[in-house]
Order: sequence, then structure tokens, then C-alpha cells
Amino acid sequence: MAITMVKVTIKCIHCNSANVVKMGKQANGAPRCKCNNCKKTFQSQYINKGALPQTKQLIIKMSTNGSGIRDTARVLDISTNTVLKVLKKQKITKQI
Ligand SMILES: [Zn+2]
Repeated sequence: MAITMVKVTIKCIHCNSANVVKMGKQANGAPRCKCNNCKKTFQSQYINKGALPQTKQLIIKMSTNGSGIRDTARVLDISTNTVLKVLKKQKITKQI
């Protein structure tokens, strides 16, 4: 199974476009970016990798493909807690 890893290049979290410009910083110091494609702004760097929408999608995809929580966490380089949290939110936790 091919897994798309999160790239270093900043991409729009809404439309996945690479047509993104930096917008300075937010009040909390997090870098802010604006997408020239869909005109939305977003935070470019997540402190927690597990909070990335792409990571969540991968967790769900791997889970539905029969990967265990530990396998998923190892492959995506995140904690098992993060995997559990996402799966619980999706209500597709089968067995822990
Ligand atoms: Zn966009």
C-alpha cells in the first residue's frame, strides 16, 4: 500500500494547492499562510503532526485497510494516542 507522506513544502490544507504565500504570524506566534487558489488562510506549521488533516485521513485509511493502531502510529510517526483519538472521533474503532 502506498502512503503519501506529509511533505515539507507548504500546501493549502483546504485545496492542497502549492500556490501559497506566507502571511506573517498569528497572535500566538504560529506562521500564517494564504492560499492564492482558494483564498483561504491557514496555519502552515502544526506543532502536533497528528493534527494535520492529511494525517487524520491516513489514519482512517490505514484503519479501514486493516492496519493496527500500533502499525499506523509507527508508519505515520505519531503516537498511538493520536491514532486512537482520531479513530474514536470517527467512531470506527474496532478493537484496541
Ligand atoms: Zn487553497
